[in-house]
Amino acid sequence: MYILACLAVFFGAYLLQITMISAFYHRALAHESLVLQPWLKRFVAQSGMWFTGLDPKAWVCMHRMHHEHSDTALDPHSPVHYGFFGVLRGQLRSYERTLVRLAKGDPAYTSKVADLDFPTNWMNRHRLWGLPYVAHFLVALAIALSTGFWIMAAGYWLGMMSHPIQGWLVNSLGHAVGSRNFNTPDNARNNTLAAWLIFGEGFQNNHHQYPASAKFSYRKTEVDLGYGLCLLMERCKLLRIERATLIPSPKKKSPETFIGEPVTENR
Ligand SMILES: [Zn+2]
Ligand SMILES: [Zn+2]
Repeated sequence: MYILACLAVFFGAYLLQITMISAFYHRALAHESLVLQPWLKRFVAQSGMWFTGLDPKAWVCMHRMHHEHSDTALDPHSPVHYGFFGVLRGQLRSYERTLVRLAKGDPAYTSKVADLDFPTNWMNRHRLWGLPYVAHFLVALAIALSTGFWIMAAGYWLGMMSHPIQGWLVNSLGHAVGSRNFNTPDNARNNTLAAWLIFGEGFQNNHHQYPASAKFSYRKTEVDLGYGLCLLMERCKLLRIERATLIPSPKKKSPETFIGEPVTENR
């Protein structure tokens, strides 16, 4: 029973954090495939850093650069250039560089996020990027000291702060190992393991072909749990899904799908 409770706490924290990054940072802010309620957008802009330890504006900037330069030397985290395990360090370095360049007002970076009407988080402007990590550690410590449930406390902290591992799995597996539905010009792949673990984010090949789609799955056998979260939040009136840009179903191919005609074999 205790272990089940620990798993529930881990999963709850994981869900909170993945909703913030995958649904709000990625699908809503970076690609505008979701339209958030104005209050929710403000909440994400102001509080996202506390939940994830990642600056929403810097994350979006780096991610848009990834799409623009996918798997080239300018990609902030491509396994083609950093190596499979080197992505872990590469993505951290690129994120730090993005924060510094945005703070210095480098047009090469600020122009990528000119549409975001909020600044980088005050913690990052004052070099206090570690505060969320300390805060979540203190919450975990409070759970442990008040209840004696140390494993549960560890589950909470790991669930909230697992984004570097998630990012690494998506960025490395999703661009090195897996099948391809579309002949994208990069090495983007659909990795089922990364897709299950990180709520649809592993379908990088589908996503690079249709970046403006809130749904990352294409075939019936592909499951995008993150899109399920989006549908749920839409029902709760927290956001609206942009349906005009949704990835088409394989049976209803529109003329625009010509460029990304599904390939017959998995490479
Ligand atoms: Zn990608
Ligand atoms: Zn994207």
